[in-house]
Amino acid sequence: MEYDEDLISLIEAASDERCDECVGRVPDRRDLVTYVTGPGGRPMPILKTLQSTMCKMNCLYCATRRDRDVRRRSMNPDELASLFHELLSHGLVEGIFLSSGIVGDSDRTMERIVETARIIRKRYGFKGYIHLKIMPGASDAAIEDAISLATRVSVNIEAPNRMRLSKIAPEKDFDISIQTIRRARKLIMESGLQVSQTTQLVVGAAGETDREILESIGRLYKELGVSRTYFSGFRPVPDTPLDNLPPADPRRIARLYQADFLIRRYGFEVEEIPLEDDGNLSLGIDPKMKWAISHPEFFPVEVNTADREILLKVPGIGPKSAWKILMMRREGGIRGLEDLKRAGVWIQRASGFITINGRRPLSQLSLDI
Ligand code: SF4
Repeated sequence: MEYDEDLISLIEAASDERCDECVGRVPDRRDLVTYVTGPGGRPMPILKTLQSTMCKMNCLYCATRRDRDVRRRSMNPDELASLFHELLSHGLVEGIFLSSGIVGDSDRTMERIVETARIIRKRYGFKGYIHLKIMPGASDAAIEDAISLATRVSVNIEAPNRMRLSKIAPEKDFDISIQTIRRARKLIMESGLQVSQTTQLVVGAAGETDREILESIGRLYKELGVSRTYFSGFRPVPDTPLDNLPPADPRRIARLYQADFLIRRYGFEVEEIPLEDDGNLSLGIDPKMKWAISHPEFFPVEVNTADREILLKVPGIGPKSAWKILMMRREGGIRGLEDLKRAGVWIQRASGFITINGRRPLSQLSLDI
């Protein structure tokens, strides 16, 4: 299938956006499909694109910033919806993520995004995944329109706080982004629709620490109902004011995702996440293991009696394996390492932190032998 050059350049410009767990991209330039984690954890191909690479803003890190000398492209809602439908009918994609440079004001930009989504839903009858970007400062009416059509909406905060945002996007207003997230949350609740809200921030461009990032996302989860955050590792773009900065270390991004999981899925408070003296996560050890090593008073945990929240603090036990352990306890209990393996526990990590019926698993192992 031949793709329009405009579409290709819009897709390429969208590559700094993160949505869901982006798990890869087909390498062929003519087949620019992004894979995200779909229902049941399977990779789901989506079209991730901008409606327009025109933008009136001048964010220092961005390839489509106003002052950068690049050819600008746009697609009108009809064209983009029809291209998506074509990709869909060829079985190449199963959903769409739609964002845009800011053309005119926030509402005008959103009108075009929303119109594309409306055509996809109404004209083509698409019932699957649509992720729509909400522009900071958009009106309630524009947000309501997006919510009525989307599976997921997102407002990017880009940086963890006002001061850091001013270093990389001096024309953006952190408070307006937060207010927009708050209004979107309220409108989603009022609509009664099952629409999730996420956000994204750029890591490694503003000199921010992981502590600042984790404190910021902790507030977004607790106070603003954001369901998750995507970390976009900074990559220097030629001919931008930050093109002399090094790219973000991928290990840092991986550690941030681990810490984020601990906060969202494992019941850790932000303050519990162990940080180095410089306010950053350790690159050498994952945050859950580091927490466990520095809290010997908490262990060993008895797998046959511990509550779910306690089990989740054990390295090698995640939400699924904790749930399976609880189920197995109803059916006679955990008798040995084989039972834990069946529950999906990562034995090598967990064994030093648990007891099974009062015994350390290693001594039990030798008995088994
Ligand atoms: S608003 Fe900023 S980050 Fe977004 S497209 Fe425009 S310049 Fe780039």
